[in-house]
Amino acid sequence: MVGLLVALQVGTLSAQSPANAVYDRVILGGHVMDPASRLDAVRNIGLLGGRIAVITTEAIRGRDTVDARGLVVAPGFIDLHAHGQTSETYRFYSLDGVTTALELELGTSDVATWYRERSAGERINYGVSIGHIKVRMAVMHDSGTWMPVSDGAYRAASPAQIGEIAKRMEIGVIEGAVSIGAGFPYTPAATRDELLAVFRVAAKMKTPVHVHIRPSVAGLTEALSLAGETGAPLHVVHINSAGLADTPVMLEMISEARAHGRDVTTEAYPYDAGMTEIQSATIQDTYKAAPDERLAELEWPRTGERLNQESFARYTRTGGPVVVHTNTEQMVAVAIHSPLTIIASDAYWQSGTGHPRTTGTFARVLGRYVREAHWLSLMDAIGKMTVMPAQRLEARVPAMRQKGRLRVGADADITIFDASKVVDRSTYLEPWLPPVGIQHVIVNGVSVVANGHAVEGVAPGKAVRAPQ
Ligand SMILES: [Zn+2]
Repeated sequence: MVGLLVALQVGTLSAQSPANAVYDRVILGGHVMDPASRLDAVRNIGLLGGRIAVITTEAIRGRDTVDARGLVVAPGFIDLHAHGQTSETYRFYSLDGVTTALELELGTSDVATWYRERSAGERINYGVSIGHIKVRMAVMHDSGTWMPVSDGAYRAASPAQIGEIAKRMEIGVIEGAVSIGAGFPYTPAATRDELLAVFRVAAKMKTPVHVHIRPSVAGLTEALSLAGETGAPLHVVHINSAGLADTPVMLEMISEARAHGRDVTTEAYPYDAGMTEIQSATIQDTYKAAPDERLAELEWPRTGERLNQESFARYTRTGGPVVVHTNTEQMVAVAIHSPLTIIASDAYWQSGTGHPRTTGTFARVLGRYVREAHWLSLMDAIGKMTVMPAQRLEARVPAMRQKGRLRVGADADITIFDASKVVDRSTYLEPWLPPVGIQHVIVNGVSVVANGHAVEGVAPGKAVRAPQ
């Protein structure tokens, strides 16, 4: 009903001359860049009731004004892969221009509770998947708190347990999960039968599976075959870190699958090192018996030291995030440049520390890959952060048709930045440093970042959730 009223108001306002109207807020004189319509020109934008009411060359008035002269006005960035879902991490994301942050890989085992816990509103829009990793941890009674460390990772499920896992996945989908999440390297004991059961739920419920695949070409082949056999839509997370030196050939495989009409998409983050929990199966299986030269790929972020057999064993006992140096800048650039990839951060933040991608992903692409290296155009980069992730989710979550675009009637999620200055500042040693150049971030019409600083005490962010 409220939505209808707003739509009527917007309709009435746009029917009359914008010059006579008084909008809630106006964004004046910005260089508007909208990848969906390819609009690339100076315009004024009027907001009303949390939506975009007008985009015009005419002078307009509002009860509040954002001066955007000299700045780029873009749709708010949508992050499909953001692990921290707390007020602390929502604040980080907003400073990087993100207006919607979704946890679609690990997800949750209890979708209804997850949304209820955030129903008072958050700084930015939020959403979650029903996660195979999390559901498996619950069904197998894993002792880990965040990722599986015992039976959730290493014990094969009985047919009855596989049935229980599939049932809980389906309940999560019915409760409005945005997608289904999975991470095969974190659940190495999950058999093909178990994974097929998960993909069958996805196919039946027409819900994309966001998968952290096993490494390289073999991992992608496995995911494509599970999707092909069941008909499930597939989204391959962080092709850069899954692919490493195989990234170009894997992008080619995805391109070919799409050319054959398959619903397959992918994403990348702009860093040549990854990060994950040292106690997780993906780290333990690879490095537990490795020699010191191989262990030197791992960095303990709190100290910056490279690990050896002694320190690896010691830090494994305490647990915590570890930096994994296995990729090259060249492969990351290939992944970011490809027209197939959505930009997604894989934001990772645990007890006061994490990966710099948590705070810098989007500004880093705009500053280093667009402005400095010219790997892609500004319009294409914005498209990878806005309309592309929105389109990935639209079939499942129709409300995403109102995000990722600057057009009349769209949600007023807007990111305004200085294209000549924007760049990340966070590092492995200081991952909390916010970027520079992201000047204003507006969520559902309300500023959460103003003049480059977080606005305190605001919670305009709403749930992104599939119809139940
Ligand atoms: Zn992840």
